[in-house]
Amino acid sequence: MTALRLYNTRTRRKEVFEPLEPGQARVYTCGPTVYAPQHIGNLVAYLFADQLKRALLAEGLRVTHVINITDVGHLTSDADTGEDKLEKQAAATGRSAAEIAAQYTAQWKRDCERVGCLEADVYCKATEHIAEQIELVRTLEAKGYTYRIDDGIYFDTSRFPHYAEFARLKLDEQKAGARIGDVPGKRAPADFGLWKFASPGVKRQQEWDSPWGRGFPGWHVECSAMSVKYLGANFDIHTGGVDHIPVHHTNEIAQSECALGIHPWVRYWMHTEFMELRGEKISKSKGHTLVLDDLAARGFEPLAFRYFVLQAHYRQQQTFSFEALEAAATGYGRLLLQAMEVRDAPGEADPERIAPLRERFRDAVRDDLNAPQALALAHEVARDSALPAPERRALLLEFDAFLGLDLARAVPRQAESESDPAIDARVAEREAARTARDFARADRIRDELAAEGIAIEDTPSGPRWRRSR
Ligand code: AMP
Ligand code: ZN
Repeated sequence: MTALRLYNTRTRRKEVFEPLEPGQARVYTCGPTVYAPQHIGNLVAYLFADQLKRALLAEGLRVTHVINITDVGHLTSDADTGEDKLEKQAAATGRSAAEIAAQYTAQWKRDCERVGCLEADVYCKATEHIAEQIELVRTLEAKGYTYRIDDGIYFDTSRFPHYAEFARLKLDEQKAGARIGDVPGKRAPADFGLWKFASPGVKRQQEWDSPWGRGFPGWHVECSAMSVKYLGANFDIHTGGVDHIPVHHTNEIAQSECALGIHPWVRYWMHTEFMELRGEKISKSKGHTLVLDDLAARGFEPLAFRYFVLQAHYRQQQTFSFEALEAAATGYGRLLLQAMEVRDAPGEADPERIAPLRERFRDAVRDDLNAPQALALAHEVARDSALPAPERRALLLEFDAFLGLDLARAVPRQAESESDPAIDARVAEREAARTARDFARADRIRDELAAEGIAIEDTPSGPRWRRSR
């Protein structure tokens, strides 16, 4: 029997996972900044956290999973300059920051659910934890880790000897390369804002009173304050994208370890590689990027995107293209068809027969979440006609607890649209009504179909229908 091993960014090694409290894993995931829709690259970060959570559950652990929602304080530049992303979007659209945050939080949650992510136990918003953040900054101030400049209260990185360790930073080079335009008065380029004052003459939508004056928390403070509130001073795993290593997570560690006096504050840090979005014309004008709905509009189910992501290890850079997604959708369709063939197979699986395959699957997951290998084994089992159907069914259902591909219920897209000429005819009838601008009739047909559990999706290449679950 192997043990679950995870790659720990902190030590740059794969390590056996041992929770602080036996039987219980506590996980914090850096969540979305909700000023815009989360693009498919962002979703990769949550799909990775979901793989981790499912792997921990498969070990029989109880998992407490916290994801934060950044709705204030994340500036357009990581160097403490630039505008607050939420305030900027509010000014550009004339809408309130709260309304924008609510819209994109809802969209992000819905997209996570559509790609099969399990729900977190806690979703915590930065704006609802201002008091906790102020408290953390007060503690740091009392311990002598801060200084005040015109722009706000800053963390003095020279007071924390471990500062450069986590990201293997070269602070001397940072100093030499410090850009003009950085915040005046900052003592070192790595120092960062804990509490920022609203600029003189600027009325922000989101600002609060504090012991230092009116303003708002620096971005990193929320994660230190909220993770500790919901998971305790010391917890097991902290996740994010690789972009978080040199600044956001480095600063979280500095604040938390100095305020709490614990080293290491979090034992395992895990980071997902970026999905490469270039090479495809996916950047829309006005800075919008590809979102899940864009994939759906081209006829791709959200779970085909999940399958696509599972094809690469989380520490491997994956390049997105529609050709690659098409190939993934085909692979997923094949897996579903084979799963469907055994779904209703009568009879019980022989435990001895499935044990070795179950172990191979567990070994793949336990080897730092080797999803591509796990997926390959699912295919191997699904197409193995020498393996009796009940065994195949039992294994695929078990595997799906990690894969999250809805192998017990989902229907391949080809099978859906080809299998029912009667429904095709009524969808065509609705199209004809729409073309004739008889929208009342078109809507009536759509509603009738909806009542029968058939959902129509209008895509650029025409309507598609599916049985809603
Ligand atoms: P943000 O909303 O900008 O704070 O980002 C949310 C999450 O998405 C962070 O964990 C990022 O590291 C992650 N992320 C952003 N772009 C990508 C990408 N192309 N591939 C994978 N993760 C990404
Ligand atoms: Zn964070």
